[in-house]
Amino acid sequence: MPATEQTIRSVVEEVLAELGKRPGTGGGAPPARVNGNGSGIPVMSAGRPARVSAGAAASGGGDWGVFQSVDAAVAAAQEAFEQLQRKPIADRAKVVNIVKSLCEQNAEQWGREELEETKIGRLDHKIEKLQIIKLVPGTEWLKSDSFSGDHGLTVIEYAPFGVIGGITPVTHSLPTLAGNVINMVAAGNTVVFNPHPSGARIACAGVRAFNRAFAEAIGIENLVTIIEQPTIESADEIFQHRGIRMLCVTGGPGVASAALAARKKSVVAGPGNPPVVVDETADLDNAARSIVAGAAYDNNLLCIGEKQVFAVNSIFDDLLAAMGRSGGYKLSGPQIDALTRLAFSPPKEPGGHAVLNRDLVGKDAAVLAEQIGVRVPAGTQLLYGEADTSNPFVPEEQMMPFVPFVRARDAEQAIAMAHESEHGFGHTAVIHSRNVHNMTTMGKLMNTTLFIKNGPCMSGLGLGGEGYLSFSVATPTGEGVTNPLTFTRSRRCVMVDELRIV
Ligand code: NAD
Repeated sequence: MPATEQTIRSVVEEVLAELGKRPGTGGGAPPARVNGNGSGIPVMSAGRPARVSAGAAASGGGDWGVFQSVDAAVAAAQEAFEQLQRKPIADRAKVVNIVKSLCEQNAEQWGREELEETKIGRLDHKIEKLQIIKLVPGTEWLKSDSFSGDHGLTVIEYAPFGVIGGITPVTHSLPTLAGNVINMVAAGNTVVFNPHPSGARIACAGVRAFNRAFAEAIGIENLVTIIEQPTIESADEIFQHRGIRMLCVTGGPGVASAALAARKKSVVAGPGNPPVVVDETADLDNAARSIVAGAAYDNNLLCIGEKQVFAVNSIFDDLLAAMGRSGGYKLSGPQIDALTRLAFSPPKEPGGHAVLNRDLVGKDAAVLAEQIGVRVPAGTQLLYGEADTSNPFVPEEQMMPFVPFVRARDAEQAIAMAHESEHGFGHTAVIHSRNVHNMTTMGKLMNTTLFIKNGPCMSGLGLGGEGYLSFSVATPTGEGVTNPLTFTRSRRCVMVDELRIV
């Protein structure tokens, strides 16, 4: 079909679509205007808005992207995908900017609402995780590549998949969703989310706010859709749905295995249990500061957060002393035993995992200490103390601000124990050392997606180290820190013997 005819056809389709949205043309009401706050970007709360969106009638009753059924959400996201395909990449860039601006401007309110709903983590970090969404890469990553030679010109471009199914964790409900939206829509896709039920309200509030602003800016609703009352069954429906082209799953072992078993392309950001090795050459003050900063971040909810430390005997006591100077509070052996009894119950079957007490996940260090009758000084960020590898805090992903320190004979033994404690997740490992041989040995053995030297875990996501941010670190499927290219198909466009003019 000649380009001119194609162009005329898409212009006519766009005009008809626009007309269909005007009042009195049978297409429902126009998109609501966002609240004025100088920037056109609204400050919004998680409360349910009064009206249902313009595309709702056509797409099964959605409320600015919030749907009751997977079928309706997929249909709406498919319709939005088809509209997005007819839009320029500049419109995707507008979407990216909207998500970044809304997260920054609503960070305080949304962070508070996320904490109130999930009841895990720290307010300062809930807010910060939304403020830093601006570090997530967008359309600027879609750089095409080319080959040019005697036989013409070949261009490699990045095409979207279509509708993506997204699963988000309770540990960072809205930040994960917002980062995924930026990556996925920048790449030209739309998305249906099944959020964690305990973080669904804030996720839905974000989706409503995003869609309102998208509709205002580029005239498309439902670029992002979400299931209002998510369940394991609705997640499974997404995994099986014919209208979903790929999955992006961020969560623990159960959902990671379910996604790996789904018969779809899956980007799986699975669990971790990041170990830290500290050898005799390390800068101990920097190591202690880094461990406290990383493990105390959002009360150790980060999948990349430092969960257990293996330190060589010759510097062990000095390292523990440095922890005390950096915001840590040292528990005695009996205090650690008491906390362990509260935090874990014995495995259900011989050789199985100790069972984590979810009520303690993401609680403040002072709250954990209180449970065992200890009052910690104000400003305490992290509890720590000496344990051995038989303590369940070492092999289990505890997600609470207590970090066990295990004494090792030498760096070789510390690295071997670190390797065992990570269970082959291949997620994240950290070393504090000035010995490049130890770094190399650990890097090779651990084979993790993130390997951080001499900094806190967050430096692996561009926060104090080089690189960019995402809250979905794809580990078993190997994509690493996700970015727009993770959600594209590589397309080769070939012109034979023409267009090369040298
Ligand atoms: P979770 O596994 O309990 O829940 C994650 C999501 O999966 C939720 O939406 C939940 O409803 C759903 N789900 C759980 N089991 C399922 C199943 N069998 N089938 C379908 N859906 C299922 O995890 P969480 O407590 O919300 O988050 C913490 C976990 O996520 C930790 O293990 C952490 O390491 C991991 N995580 C990984 C990354 C990463 O980037 N790799 C990021 C954040 C969290």
